[in-house]
Amino acid sequence: MKMLLKGEWVEREKTIDVTDPFDNTLVDVVPSANKEDVETALEAAHEGFLAAKRMTVYERAEILFKTASIIKENLDEFAVLIARESSKTIREARKEASRCVNTLTVSAEESKRILGETIPFDSFPGGEKRRGYYYRFPIGTILAITPFNDPLNLVAHKLGPAIAGGNSVILKPATVTPLSALKLAEVLIEAGLPAMVLQVLTGYGAVIGDDLVKDERVRMISFTGGVEAGKRIAGLAGIKKIGMELGSNSPVIVWNDTDLDWAVESCVSGAFWASGQNCIGVQRLYVHRSVYEEFKEKFVTRTSAYRTGDKMKEETDMGPMITEGEAKRVERWVEEAVEKGARVLTGGSRKGALYAPTVLENVPESATIHKEEVFGPTVNLYPVETLDEAIGKANSLPFGLHAAVFTKDVDVAFKAAYELDCGGVIINDSTDYRLDSMPFGGIKYSGLGREGLKFALQEMTEPKVISFYLPEI
Ligand code: NAP
Repeated sequence: MKMLLKGEWVEREKTIDVTDPFDNTLVDVVPSANKEDVETALEAAHEGFLAAKRMTVYERAEILFKTASIIKENLDEFAVLIARESSKTIREARKEASRCVNTLTVSAEESKRILGETIPFDSFPGGEKRRGYYYRFPIGTILAITPFNDPLNLVAHKLGPAIAGGNSVILKPATVTPLSALKLAEVLIEAGLPAMVLQVLTGYGAVIGDDLVKDERVRMISFTGGVEAGKRIAGLAGIKKIGMELGSNSPVIVWNDTDLDWAVESCVSGAFWASGQNCIGVQRLYVHRSVYEEFKEKFVTRTSAYRTGDKMKEETDMGPMITEGEAKRVERWVEEAVEKGARVLTGGSRKGALYAPTVLENVPESATIHKEEVFGPTVNLYPVETLDEAIGKANSLPFGLHAAVFTKDVDVAFKAAYELDCGGVIINDSTDYRLDSMPFGGIKYSGLGREGLKFALQEMTEPKVISFYLPEI
């Protein structure tokens, strides 16, 4: 596929292979953007902004509604592309494609709700004979940088609100999964987006990232990815807005009054969705000691029944990791935990990029797989005695995206909701619950700001005050 630069689909002599991580077959090639392309994109995005901010809200909304409707009509094509270039099974990919339809639809709807307020200037001395209001205006050029694990919907989470708010965008998708993003860009153009409003640069973050991030023509960086890249970007950005959706290590508390079968079903899915490459994937499960053995047995049985392998088969529950290198990293982390005393209850094996769904117990707090974001198909079980202990342990790491609690006791639910340090507490479902319109984001190293269309639109617009001096009133 070609990349979108200055209103044209362009190729470059230097290309990047996009391969299917299951069988290493070539899916497509994309241009490898260079530093000159960065400058072209920045200039074009400035022109694009002048076009974007002149579009009426109705025009912006129509483009987004039409894009959503084209994707809905071609859902299978999008799902196959997601499944080929990423780790996702075809069923997971279909779900992502249909979520993308919602993301764009709600972006269009929210564009019509960018509201301001009248300001009561005469409420203090000095405001006499003044009338005025504020309204939210676009920011300018937004640099959107996206990860590999949701190659379509996480791109839509940036392009949807950016366009709804009247901004231009330079998109840099993950190098391993650029195809769904390019296809989304094609549909946006087909739906009527003025071509200069969007630039899509396919290329390595290590090559083109710094020049994009540092440039003063970029007025906001909307980044989703790992903490390390996030720190580098924040360090180089200078004076511009930054939105960061980073990683986590999500805790779930399972209380002794809950429906264990539901908790198991929900948490197995939450741990192994997209092979665990999921920023809100379940990583630490704190289970009340009185139900620990029963929960463990059910959890291991359900995990062992997971069908792994060919992503394109309907019956497959879990596909490979994004690369063999990533699967080897998870293998090393499990081995390290075992050396330090952890027990593997099921899984713990690797075949190429496919790492088996793995359940561990007795994982020491010094183990990497306890402390860091695993971003792979493994989950740790820990027995706990009291709610304070569970909440304390859940809060003990420097991440805070989602946390979850399974209980029928309203007191337990409320205490957990108020005391868990994170951006969202999910009651009676796993941490892997997200509705695209809810505020989404983390505290501590999990991020800065919120996505979720209404909330992203707030971040991607800024208020401007208009004040009239009216001596005759
Ligand atoms: P990553 O390695 O941090 O890469 C994310 C994106 O940043 C890619 O497009 C990458 O480009 C780019 N990048 C890397 N270094 C850069 C630099 N110096 N300047 C500019 N761009 C740079 O993350 P990933 O492996 O793709 O994704 C996994 C991470 O994303 C996990 O930590 C996960 O938790 C997080 N995530 C968070 C959320 C959320 O909403 N909170 C959602 C999904 C994923 P290249 O591909 O060219 O390296």
